[in-house]
Amino acid sequence: MIPVSMETGFFIYLLIWMLTISILWGRKLWRDHAQEWMLSKSRLFRCDSCHYAFINKENATISRCPRCNNVCIFRKHRRF
Ligand SMILES: [Zn+2]
Repeated sequence: MIPVSMETGFFIYLLIWMLTISILWGRKLWRDHAQEWMLSKSRLFRCDSCHYAFINKENATISRCPRCNNVCIFRKHRRF
């Protein structure tokens, strides 16, 4: 066993806890950013059969309606 003084052991204990807390905090910030919902027109789908509006992943062009399970196709509106 490695001889360690009380102060050094306490310092290593605190250092490990601070490192663990900072890793968990960084992981939480990363997960919050990854799962963040942002509203935009490209994410908004509208079902043609039941007229239910819902949000889907970015850059998705086809999805299923969560209410009636109908296939919904995202149509980009052109500006004239
Ligand atoms: Zn529907």
